[in-house]
Amino acid sequence: MSYLNIAIDGPAGSGKSTIAKHIANKMGILYLDTGAMYRAMALKMLRCGIDIADTAAVLKELPNTEVFAENQNGTQITYLDGEDVSSLIRTPEVSKGASDIAVIPEVRIKLVALQRNIAEKSDVVMDGRDIGSYVIPQTANKFFVTASPLERAKRRLKELNEKGLSLDKTLEQMRDEIVARDKVDSSRSFAPLTQTEDAVFVDTTDMTIDEAVSYVMERIKK
Ligand code: C5P
Repeated sequence: MSYLNIAIDGPAGSGKSTIAKHIANKMGILYLDTGAMYRAMALKMLRCGIDIADTAAVLKELPNTEVFAENQNGTQITYLDGEDVSSLIRTPEVSKGASDIAVIPEVRIKLVALQRNIAEKSDVVMDGRDIGSYVIPQTANKFFVTASPLERAKRRLKELNEKGLSLDKTLEQMRDEIVARDKVDSSRSFAPLTQTEDAVFVDTTDMTIDEAVSYVMERIKK
């Protein structure tokens, strides 16, 4: 039996996770935030005092690191070595660490195996960077969501403020960080952030959430 797998890729702050969550909710299927898995990996290394640029040290710790994600009442809970770290992985330090650790092929292979396992067993909307290009390239449902860097920076600042993570950053600093992260994500050699030819392009800069969700929903092939 094959399941409905929907891939939603795009850069940070593009609105992809908001869209993915709404779609999962509307369709009554699972939502998987794959970025949270990279974030949990990064948190582990930060906690161990490992410099993520030191690939050998990261690889040594990798077999002792278990990341697991489950859905509870529509909300993803992300576990690191059995501990719920969902609220601890949203800091700017972890964001940067996630982008850096995501460059390491062995880290990706470990997490992609978990993601594919979920896609083989359930209807799921996954958001990330390489879902349509690498994790589930066979799916007929691929979307590439983006927005202007300034708009994405505005959204990220708002999100962090709402979470009570007060930041001393200006909008411009936030935009520069986002652009730097995009560069790391799209220039890595293994499974970079990329728009595949068969993905539907969605620019959410001037769209409301409802408009973006409807746009994607209308294009899902069941
Ligand atoms: O989506 P989010 O911003 O939470 O992802 C954090 C980081 O994890 C991204 O900057 C990216 O480097 C990495 N990531 C990835 N592949 C995915 C999901 C996230 O490389 N499928």
